[in-house]
Amino acid sequence: MKAVYSPLHARHDGGFELYRGQLVPTFETPDRAEIIRAAIAAAGHELVQPREFPESRLLGVHDGEFVEFLRGAHARWQSEGRQGHVIPSGFPARGLRQDRRPSGISGSLGYYAFDASTPIVAGTWDAVLAAARSAMTAAALVAEGERAAYALCRPPGHHAARSTYGGYCYLNNAALAAQYLRDAGHRRVTILDVDYHHGNGTQEIFWEREDVQFVSLHGDPETEYPWFLGYADERGAGPGEGFTLNLPLPAGTAWDAYAAALQTALGAITRYDPESLVVSLGVDTFVSDPISSFKLESRHYPLIGGLLAGLRLPTVLVQEGGYAVAEIGENVAGVLGAFAD
Ligand SMILES: [Zn+2]
Repeated sequence: MKAVYSPLHARHDGGFELYRGQLVPTFETPDRAEIIRAAIAAAGHELVQPREFPESRLLGVHDGEFVEFLRGAHARWQSEGRQGHVIPSGFPARGLRQDRRPSGISGSLGYYAFDASTPIVAGTWDAVLAAARSAMTAAALVAEGERAAYALCRPPGHHAARSTYGGYCYLNNAALAAQYLRDAGHRRVTILDVDYHHGNGTQEIFWEREDVQFVSLHGDPETEYPWFLGYADERGAGPGEGFTLNLPLPAGTAWDAYAAALQTALGAITRYDPESLVVSLGVDTFVSDPISSFKLESRHYPLIGGLLAGLRLPTVLVQEGGYAVAEIGENVAGVLGAFAD
């Protein structure tokens, strides 16, 4: 399989996040992508560079002022004389104005971010743009006839919505891939999100659309991040009603229950009958993931790949989470290998 990779991901490095009351180095690190790259190269997948795309492509799923904010946030932080980490410290919760974007950098950060775990460093935008281009390149390869293609996106994307960022995500790579396939003429596209965490950004972007189905298996937001979206009663709205399917699972879920939920997801996808599939491929469902609570083992990832490949759809696989760094390469390669067989 062709695997799209850019070394620019490494420019997004050195950030700190607020995690359970402590400011710690972010779990989302450059070595994640390098270990995946080494594993998939060793497995025989062909690494290719992302293509250039006009940035207007980003506006298919993102707000223009939001994109400009992300591009310039770090420089503004510095030009306004701030020290320390570019992390928001206040948000427009209930009772505060959500229609007003403050002009200063601190207010803008709180307006566009939804958590304090997603730092912006000097090289973040370069990496974010390279990840978006990688996802669109994988979509282009599939639109041009490849059976499947993989985008080694870092930072990940599925928590990023039309004009909000968080959860280590800035632009929504999977949504950009799905929109690319729509623009290439695919009438219906499904995004299946198997990351441990709910893809709240992807859900929001396609909430009122019937041309992109969103199906997600994830840790129950009653106890798991992102807490405020991903419940089973969220089904889409307007023309999109019925085209969102959330399958939250309790912390501690192991393979048998996971596989049963995945079969439910595959059934919903088959009924929707899309022309292509985008997989938000997080492997933070792994038993020793430091920030997640499912109990999948490395031997289960080829089984997931086999079930996904069994849909027999043109498929774009987009890297999302996975923080058990030592095993991340083996687990991702396990999913991809099933598509080669
Ligand atoms: Zn995740």
